[in-house]
Amino acid sequence: MSNQKKRIAVLGSTGSIGLNSLSVIDSLGDDYQLISAAAHRSWRQLAQQARAYDLQKVVITDVRYFDDLKKELTGADTEVLAGPEHLIDLAQDENVDTVIVSVVGAAGLPAVLAAARAGKSLAIANKESLVIAGGLVIPLARQSGAGVLPIDSEHSAILQALHAGKRQEVEKVIITCSGGPFRGASVAELAHVSLSEALNHPTWSMGPKISIDSATLMNKALEIIEARWLFDLSPDQIEVLIHPESIIHSLVEFCDGSAVAQLSRPDMRLPIQYALTYPDRLPAPTDRLNLHQIRQLRFEPPDLERFPALRLGYEVARMGGTAGAVLNGANEAAVEAFRGGKIGFNQIVELAEMSFQDHNFIEEPDLQQLMAADLWARRQVEERLAVLGRPAGL
Ligand code: MG
Repeated sequence: MSNQKKRIAVLGSTGSIGLNSLSVIDSLGDDYQLISAAAHRSWRQLAQQARAYDLQKVVITDVRYFDDLKKELTGADTEVLAGPEHLIDLAQDENVDTVIVSVVGAAGLPAVLAAARAGKSLAIANKESLVIAGGLVIPLARQSGAGVLPIDSEHSAILQALHAGKRQEVEKVIITCSGGPFRGASVAELAHVSLSEALNHPTWSMGPKISIDSATLMNKALEIIEARWLFDLSPDQIEVLIHPESIIHSLVEFCDGSAVAQLSRPDMRLPIQYALTYPDRLPAPTDRLNLHQIRQLRFEPPDLERFPALRLGYEVARMGGTAGAVLNGANEAAVEAFRGGKIGFNQIVELAEMSFQDHNFIEEPDLQQLMAADLWARRQVEERLAVLGRPAGL
């Protein structure tokens, strides 16, 4: 690595993971260079990044902001592109070695597939793309030699712990879960959760979509499915453990009964940096773990009654096929509806489950069938919303 620069594209450069990625690239020094970036609507911030990093290309996926961005970058050497289809250009660009995909939701999938096909080092913060199409992404990456590296604290922890033994010596993985902001709440209390309460995560600072997923535990459900694809595990080998302090990020248990864990303060810059420097480690400016200050690490089993999303996660991981696309599409639509004040908190997972139960399952879908399943699930949620009306108390 010392004699060759790593050239990086960040897709979703103005979101929480995107900004952390830029800060990691800054601290890693000259061997790591940001080449291109993409944002959905934050054109001003994207223009600032283009100038600060002298970017070759930028993409604004919402075409309405093309003129603003173009004008803002008058005189700069940066090529300005607009439209979601250009995420693929960045992902397979021959001038790029590593693609960080931190786009939110299913919108990240085409770029993930393109980077996997092009043999890039693929750092995935967009877990939805694996939930929808892990069955396509992973074989594609294997064929092309692309590295698939998780930017998800739990999966980064598993990847790190896996180095303690051989693949066939792995018995199971234990994914930890903070429990979100409503860990102790009753079903009745959960019904009256407000948007700002759901956005207020106790240990992690994250974007709105993943914060709401973390509150319903749908995020953990998606992570079960993500782990199944990333590490080729059967769902029976994946356990979830509530750990409110978010210090142990996950564990791998080996056949001799040894469990190897990765611990650190909750800081996304760590998994981002590990994905960029893998399999090496480099110094990082992150705060060190001080266990005698933390004193206590607590653990409890997850409650599947109050948080039914987890049960769905296991079911989908077992089924594979189109199940992930349907669960994810319905969840994305339901989270949008909750953010728009159209449904209560408990209805997010209810709506996702209804769509999931009604769908026509396909066992070995191609991309087109996955996208159709995603669209179908979103429409199901919208149709149900139309008859639901606005819930009382919101
Ligand atoms: Mg995570």
